[in-house]
Amino acid sequence: MDFAYSPEDVAFREELCSWLDENLPKFLADWTSDDDPGGGRLAAIGRTQERRRDWQRRLNEGKWAAINWPKDWNGRDATPAQNVIYAEEMARARAPGIYNANGLWQIGPMIIAWGTEDQQQRWLPGILSADVHWCQGFSEPQAGSDLANLRTTAIRDGDEYVINGQKIWISTAHLAKWGLFLFRTDPEAIERGAKHEGITAFIVDMETPGVECRPIRDITGEEMFNEVFFADARIPATDRLGDEGAGWQVAMGTLGRERVGTAGQAITMAADLRAMISAARAVNPDALEDPAIRERIARLYTEIEHTKLLNYRALTKILKGQKNWPEVPLAKLQWSYLAQALAELALDLLGPNGLLAKGSPDSVDGGSWTRSYSFQRYTTIGAGATEVQKNIIADRALMTNK
Ligand SMILES: Cc1cc2nc3c(=O)[nH]c(=O)nc-3n(C[C@H](O)[C@H](O)[C@H](O)COP(=O)(O)OP(=O)(O)OC[C@H]3O[C@@H](n4cnc5c(N)ncnc54)[C@H](O)[C@@H]3O)c2cc1C
Repeated sequence: MDFAYSPEDVAFREELCSWLDENLPKFLADWTSDDDPGGGRLAAIGRTQERRRDWQRRLNEGKWAAINWPKDWNGRDATPAQNVIYAEEMARARAPGIYNANGLWQIGPMIIAWGTEDQQQRWLPGILSADVHWCQGFSEPQAGSDLANLRTTAIRDGDEYVINGQKIWISTAHLAKWGLFLFRTDPEAIERGAKHEGITAFIVDMETPGVECRPIRDITGEEMFNEVFFADARIPATDRLGDEGAGWQVAMGTLGRERVGTAGQAITMAADLRAMISAARAVNPDALEDPAIRERIARLYTEIEHTKLLNYRALTKILKGQKNWPEVPLAKLQWSYLAQALAELALDLLGPNGLLAKGSPDSVDGGSWTRSYSFQRYTTIGAGATEVQKNIIADRALMTNK
């Protein structure tokens, strides 16, 4: 494992840290005063989105919003090492979320790679400036881990495509103006035994007649996922991204980027562990004397450090041009296990107050630990389900290394 960074990477880190030192405290101060002015759940979602929009705009002004985009598009052409540095420093600073995470990390790079000049000019500025929100619509009721089984059709009719079918679990689709979707332009490909063929990527205006979002209430009580229904929705052929039938390649580029971004999570988890211990000192100090709990804290701390090293090993292999497995799927498994184990530890540490949800006057840290306990269940399915990751480790890493 190589822990050394190049002089360019060291300069990248220094520039980012000094930008964060200068801009993050000011941003946080600007948003603290009206953090919770009331108005109910919808108003709270609106405020969160406005805060994210503002933070993304400030990042973009400093060329820190889209580090993987080319310099001509206000990016930095960041290397894999710089991506890790960025994730680490953002996690260390506890930087807020951004408005168009999907747009900046996945969809924008695909439009840059596959879009025409006209498409780039139409869509990239709005993603960068956070003027409009974007979503990513791949999953369907029968196409999740087995994404190539997707069946929503796009049939060409003159200068348009007619869309029919259903997507599910589409994050923030109800807030989005645009979405990158995968549809089947060759409905016979599955029956032919060639399900990866005949899939095409499209950019969809979510206000098109015949497109309907229905939010799904999740285990935390929030409504950020959607079913999206298409009933004879007509979209212009000029909004197709890449060639007809090239959708699988477009999607793999998108998902490949999703798999890289785990480096900051170990730092976030270490900070969460420290924060829950501080909260326990205030509301339930006896728990910190319990030998069983002390052992769990020590074990989790050690495993977080192991996960950090696993990420460094993956990065070292990527930099040497080697395959990044089994480290990347192993790090994904570690992340989902640790996220849930930490959430469980938080509730045991905090005692009865730790169970109180947002809105209760005695809740700890605004009820965030209780929410986390429910929400972290998603980590065993999001960004690659646990069993599927294990299959990948068994098939590709263990078997091919024999
Ligand atoms: C927080 C979150 C946000 C999401 N946002 C989006 C989004 O914005 N856009 C989008 O398109 N999708 C989104 N998704 C959907 C996500 O991509 C799917 O949930 C994921 O691909 C798994 O698909 P599925 O839910 O259909 O589960 P399935 O694939 O049906 O899996 C169900 C269970 O079966 C197991 N399983 C599946 N195949 C195998 C196998 N071959 N061998 C052994 N076990 C197997 C899985 O491990 C899992 O336990 C989101 C999901 C989450 C949790």
